[in-house]
Amino acid sequence: MNIRWRRLATPTAPCHCATCGQRFPGKRRVPHLFSDAQLDLGPLCPQCFAASPVQLRERMRRYAYLIHLNRLRHPGSPDHARHLEQLACERSIRYPGPLGWLRHWQKT
Ligand SMILES: [Zn+2]
Repeated sequence: MNIRWRRLATPTAPCHCATCGQRFPGKRRVPHLFSDAQLDLGPLCPQCFAASPVQLRERMRRYAYLIHLNRLRHPGSPDHARHLEQLACERSIRYPGPLGWLRHWQKT
């Protein structure tokens, strides 16, 4: 999977984080999570974006699990949960920017 910056058409619209479901205010540029097959799963909130690769995978699995339990007030779709589980199994996470490779190799 990889993370890339995307420009929002409406920068002020609130976003739902693709990997934890939390709402956060949109900015002009928001990091989006893509699968290796370039499927756009949606925006990442600042906490998920700042998380280490291991933490991010944990958040994805946890959120997918919660969607399956259907206990969320704003549940994501089962399709989204399935994609999250698939992406969590992809081998690498590529981060944007010149230091992206650093985080890619970070093992915490
Ligand atoms: Zn998040």
